Amino acid sequence: MNLHKLILTSNACYKAGRTITPRGIMVHSTGANNPNLKRYVGPDDGLLGKNQYNNHWNTDKPGGRQVCVHAFIGKLANGMIATYQTLPWNMRGWHCGSGSQGSGNDTHISFEICEDNLSDAAYFNAVYKEAAELCAYLCKQYGIRPERPYLICHSEGHELGIASNHGDVMHWFPKHGKSMDTFRAEVNRLLENGGSEASSSSGSKSVDALAREVIRGNWGNGVERKNRLTAAGHDYAAVQAKVNEILSGKSTSTTETFESYTVAKGDTLWGIAAKKLGSGARYKEIKTLNGLSSDTIYAGQKLKLPK
Ligand SMILES: [Zn+2]
Repeated sequence: MNLHKLILTSNACYKAGRTITPRGIMVHSTGANNPNLKRYVGPDDGLLGKNQYNNHWNTDKPGGRQVCVHAFIGKLANGMIATYQTLPWNMRGWHCGSGSQGSGNDTHISFEICEDNLSDAAYFNAVYKEAAELCAYLCKQYGIRPERPYLICHSEGHELGIASNHGDVMHWFPKHGKSMDTFRAEVNRLLENGGSEASSSSGSKSVDALAREVIRGNWGNGVERKNRLTAAGHDYAAVQAKVNEILSGKSTSTTETFESYTVAKGDTLWGIAAKKLGSGARYKEIKTLNGLSSDTIYAGQKLKLPK
């Protein structure tokens, strides 16, 4: 995944500042023949290229509409495919309207894939892969299952009663032999591969490699370490947890057969299993180890995790 960040702070959606607990992801495509990210994301950061009409979405109401998504996937000025994060992932977006069951804006992270004329297979395959990697990354981060009704497209959202009546992305994917079912299967495959493809941004190093660099002293200590790792776009908490894990493996303690974990706000069993055990499907082991009869957990709860 080639993930960049340019938050659309001039958009009224950003200024509204409402937050959500992400429960799912809604995939959109733009419905206009323009694969260039600069059409929607701006101002130019040196990679996007200049939008000569200045009609990107970093404006109060793009085209007079209350609209904003969490990310766009499309082409940089040099033709490379990239993802641009345009809202904080836990901010409430304006992307799907509503239906009889409510609004996906309250539950789903959203992104737009920039459409071309829908006939270029090479472009389609590249953005499909980028979108799957983005979804795997988000599923892992928020404990979202790559299943209906969590990982859906706009037209499925309409079927489920949480979105307006739009056809995306099912007017496009089938032209290239794909569907939301193949897409969910691909995201699941990425997650089962341990998320190593999914969690890296811009081809960055794995958590394991970073942890070993930290131990070698390459990233300093304490606050400096945290700031430098965060500034470089890495997940400080994950790296530090790995450091502790590696270092504790060198101790000779044999008494502990499990690790302790304190539930944070927004955690789910699936999410904890994905984050700590490498696969969301291992959430059943956590339930068994802790004698839980339901999937409900609460912030502050202490859980044992298998080592
Ligand atoms: Zn849509």
